[in-house]
Amino acid sequence: MTVFLKAWFPWMAVFALAMIPAYACAQTARPPATIPSSEKAAMAQLVALRDSFVSRIKAEGFQPSLPPPEIILDNPPSYGAYDREKNVVHVAMWEQLGPDQQAQFASLFGQGDQAFEEMAHRWIFTHELGHWWQACQHENGGSHYSVESGASRIAAAYWREQDALFMDKTAMKIAAIRDNMRSLVPAEQQNEKFFNENYWKLGPTPAFIWFHCDMISKMLTERPLPSFRQTLQQPLYP
Ligand SMILES: [Zn+2]
Repeated sequence: MTVFLKAWFPWMAVFALAMIPAYACAQTARPPATIPSSEKAAMAQLVALRDSFVSRIKAEGFQPSLPPPEIILDNPPSYGAYDREKNVVHVAMWEQLGPDQQAQFASLFGQGDQAFEEMAHRWIFTHELGHWWQACQHENGGSHYSVESGASRIAAAYWREQDALFMDKTAMKIAAIRDNMRSLVPAEQQNEKFFNENYWKLGPTPAFIWFHCDMISKMLTERPLPSFRQTLQQPLYP
């Protein structure tokens, strides 16, 4: 059980993304020649995704009030974090995770580069871009629940348009985690009010994981499914 809970810990961190107001990073400039090709390739992919995301926003007639966020590949405490103060998205790089972190990730999401790329560099990264859009729209006053759910709703709508199969797969992974962990949270606490009132207390507990998976799974039952444009118009949800 201890191992199980330890293994789930990174998943909790995955969703703690909006909790980090200013992720401090000791990033030092490196000469281009010393940057591994795998890192260059990952960065190129993330830049392309970011630019596609921003282009889609502009195509819907919106003009973002912030420049596209800078991207830093490192080892943030949650695989990904948007730093609102610096307008930077930090994203995890597999090679920068410690052996324990790598093992934990694999136990949650599966082995291999593809599992990491899909979860960290596609889903989590796009969720972070959702927080960037919330910052563009000066959305500061929402509940913890609506901030997190809103960012995931934007990410989900983006991926439904771009790669519906990927979004289906991600939704299934999240739903499975929710079902597996439901017993960790007392029934009377399985609600939005409890989540908002106990946000900081829940943070370091496995219950936090369950709440986020439940939140995303509920958000995905919305019918009709919102378009990307609709999610942009309502950055917090519900
Ligand atoms: Zn978040």
